[in-house]
Amino acid sequence: MYLSKLFIPLLKNNPSEAKIKSHQLMLRAGMIKQSSAGIYSWLPLGFKIMKKIEQIVREEQNKIGAQELLMPTIQSAEIWKESGRYEDYGDEMLRIKDRQGKEMLYGPTNEELITEIFRSSVKSYKSLPQLLYHIQWKFRDELRPRFGVMRCKEFFMKDAYSFDLSDDEAKKSYNKMFFAYLNTFKRLGLTAIPMAADTGPIGGDLSHEFIILAETGESKIYADKRIFDINIKKHTNEDISINSLRKKYDEYYAVTDDKFNKKDFDKQVKKENQLTTKGIEVGHIFYFGDKYSKPLNCLVDLSDGKKVNVKMGSYGIGVSRLVGAVIEAKFNNNLMKWPDSISPFDVALIPSINKNDKTSYDKALKIYNSLKQKNIDVLFDDTEEHLSAKFKKFDLIGIPYQIILGSKSDNDKFEFKEIEGKTEILSLEEIQNKLLIKRNLN
Ligand code: ATP
Ligand code: MG
Repeated sequence: MYLSKLFIPLLKNNPSEAKIKSHQLMLRAGMIKQSSAGIYSWLPLGFKIMKKIEQIVREEQNKIGAQELLMPTIQSAEIWKESGRYEDYGDEMLRIKDRQGKEMLYGPTNEELITEIFRSSVKSYKSLPQLLYHIQWKFRDELRPRFGVMRCKEFFMKDAYSFDLSDDEAKKSYNKMFFAYLNTFKRLGLTAIPMAADTGPIGGDLSHEFIILAETGESKIYADKRIFDINIKKHTNEDISINSLRKKYDEYYAVTDDKFNKKDFDKQVKKENQLTTKGIEVGHIFYFGDKYSKPLNCLVDLSDGKKVNVKMGSYGIGVSRLVGAVIEAKFNNNLMKWPDSISPFDVALIPSINKNDKTSYDKALKIYNSLKQKNIDVLFDDTEEHLSAKFKKFDLIGIPYQIILGSKSDNDKFEFKEIEGKTEILSLEEIQNKLLIKRNLN
């Protein structure tokens, strides 16, 4: 992509409405544009990053055997009346009527709809367990939308639902998801800690919020800091391994506000291991048994002919919130820094271009074409701006690698710079190999 052609409306100054860094930087880098309070358009750069996050979320769901489907954004009020949540959900639910006066709503979550789909199609224990998910826009009429994409009204969420025959089986599904979440956040370059949480309006008795540390986070957390040292890489996708990983996390105290108890904290965690700080909730998982399958009459036949309500769990990840959360975790002043796995481009190509002399442009174009041929996604700064101005812009955009054609480059060796890191002088082939290796690591 040529920078001159990219639709990227950069802002010079911090917009006054943006209170936290991720919001400021996303507006400044032309990633999003507010359409009305708490509702955003995703511009090409922001959208591309969000799609990469979505894809990683999807791959990790698929790895544990979850199947993707797509439910609509607009739901009928009827099933919500059946579950009893139509009233309970309150003002956060956006209620709509169609031309026949039928009550509809823009889905804030999908427990009812997925249960309805399940009950009308699955009748026998033989079809269980099932893990289903979709990645879809949600709407919650938040009282105070704020912090850009962190807390908005319309947001993009992955939500998964598990269906099992017994509590024991259901907990296996829960643990699988737990494992998938740790892997997902790790691939996004984040350390997300599962914290025991209250189940809130979703209900049920087992729940974890996945929190990344950030001063601007809205969740207050209390943890034994040794929980950060658990090595998830040692674990595999098998039940035994996943269960032992769950157990390891359970060994350490880690809770959010609503579950905090000072006495327990002091009793269970030595002073030097106590960590009290703030974080951003990027995922939330629940086990709630038959809370929805009962009122919605979702039953399956057992082998002896008896019928049971299926045991369900639900599992959310804030895909659009993650774009902001990654920035909060990685920014440095006015510099964003995307992990390789979700960077909008693999590399930036930054030549110093002279109006009257086409040689540097031609040289850059050659490099550009060669990278494209290797399927390396490169953003070519073909503008005639000063190098220093270009660097400022690329700091903001946060592509992790730069090829700079300036004073340090000669005929066939170029400056290869890691953002906020070291610079090497390398041949094009060496640069390509490096980039391809980095890509394979993701
Ligand atoms: P919160 O406690 O932040 O209000 P929640 O508990 O209501 O979130 P869930 O119902 O668990 O959220 O939704 C799953 C995920 O969706 C959350 O972990 C979060 O990452 C994301 N999410 C929830 N509400 C919003 C929102 N208003 N804007 C952006 N992302 C959101
Ligand atoms: Mg929550």
